[in-house]
Amino acid sequence: MASSVAKYCGPCEARNTTEIAVVWCIDCDDGLCPSCLEHHEVSKASNKHQTIPVMEFKTLRKQINNHIDDLESDLLKQLEDVSNQNISEIDKLLSKLKDKETQIKSLGDSIHRIKETLSNVQVFLATKSVGEKLREEQEWISTLCDQDVAKESILELSADSQLTHLLTDLKHFGTIKVVRKTCQIKVGAWEQQRAA
Ligand SMILES: [Zn+2]
Ligand SMILES: [Zn+2]
Repeated sequence: MASSVAKYCGPCEARNTTEIAVVWCIDCDDGLCPSCLEHHEVSKASNKHQTIPVMEFKTLRKQINNHIDDLESDLLKQLEDVSNQNISEIDKLLSKLKDKETQIKSLGDSIHRIKETLSNVQVFLATKSVGEKLREEQEWISTLCDQDVAKESILELSADSQLTHLLTDLKHFGTIKVVRKTCQIKVGAWEQQRAA
C-alpha cells in the first residue's frame, strides 16, 4: 500500500501535475482526482474497479493501524511478563547456588582442618562422615539440574495462524456493493394531489 495513500491523484502525478485525490481505487492501489475518476469509470480497463472515498479509506486504515498497534503492545507486554518471570526464577536459582557455594567451601575448610589436626584413625572415621556430606551435596545439585528453572530457556513466538492467513489470503479491505432500499416516492399521495 502506498504511503502517500489517497493524498494526490496517481495518474496526474505520473504526468507531473498535483491534484488532490477524492477517491482511492482499491484495484489500482492509487488515488484519483475527479477528472481522472471520470476516465477511470468509463475506461474498459478500469470500469469494474472498486473505489472508496479518500476519507473513508483513511479512517479504515487508521482503524486497522490502531488495531495492529494494540496487538503489538499486547504481545510486547506478554514478552516482558514472561521474560521478567524467567529472570526472577534465575535470580532465585543463583542465590540458592551462592548459598550452596558457601556451604561447600566450609566443608572444604573442615576437610583441611581434619587432615591437619587429627590422628590417622580419627581422619579415617571423619572421612566417612565427610564423604556422606559430599554425596548429599552431589544429590542436591543433580536434583536442581532436573528442575525447569536450571534449564536453558528460549522464548519462542508462535504466530497466530489467523495472522498467517491474513497475510496470504487478504487481498482487499473489503468489497463495495450498492444497497438498494425501498423507493421513498409516495405514489398514492401524488395521485391524491392530482385528483384534488
Ligand atoms: Zn488526476
Ligand atoms: Zn483502478
